[in-house]
Amino acid sequence: MLSSALASITSTSAAVFMSMERVVVVGGGVIGLSVARAITRAKKSIEVFVLEKEQRAGTSTTSRNSGVIHAGLYYNPNSLKNDLCLKGKKRLISYLQERSLPLNVCGKLVVATSPEEHSKLDAIATRCKSNGLEGLQVLTSNEVTSLYESHVSCK
Ligand SMILES: Cc1cc2nc3c(=O)[nH]c(=O)nc-3n(C[C@H](O)[C@H](O)[C@H](O)COP(=O)(O)OP(=O)(O)OC[C@H]3O[C@@H](n4cnc5c(N)ncnc54)[C@H](O)[C@@H]3O)c2cc1C
Repeated sequence: MLSSALASITSTSAAVFMSMERVVVVGGGVIGLSVARAITRAKKSIEVFVLEKEQRAGTSTTSRNSGVIHAGLYYNPNSLKNDLCLKGKKRLISYLQERSLPLNVCGKLVVATSPEEHSKLDAIATRCKSNGLEGLQVLTSNEVTSLYESHVSCK
């Protein structure tokens, strides 16, 4: 990850990084820990220090979120956010599967709860296609309740 990130910055910055012997990462959430991991993988001899203000790393927002791997439904096509979301999703799923870590790939239902919301649903479906989202299915109300969630009300 870092090596590809480094490829996109100037050769001077990359050279500065490669000459470093120690790096300090401030904050031990998922981002800080991922950065620290990427740095050590990019340069084995480097010393990395993660400074965390709490008693343990990963105890802030990182461990209190909804636990969802975002599908990339809502981001603009061709945006960096969409690109990172789709790539990150694939890589996170592979990471978990390679380590036999629990993962519930349950999919996501986005429903219209009134006829007025149909156009919004259509717009989301169109964006999903533009975003290259795999596995998109358009379901009827009956299919949703009989195949997936009997208590969902969609119209
Ligand atoms: C309610 C909620 C639900 C979410 N649900 C999801 C979800 O389902 N799926 C998803 O992908 N994302 C979700 N997110 C977003 C996701 O949780 C965050 O994007 C991610 O955890 C951010 O990680 P981080 O490492 O940047 O921040 P943090 O996890 O906040 O880590 C930052 C760390 O830095 C430390 N720190 C701060 N200042 C200092 C300092 N001066 N010195 C030393 N340490 C310091 C903090 O203690 C903390 O441990 C959700 C976010 C929220 C708020």
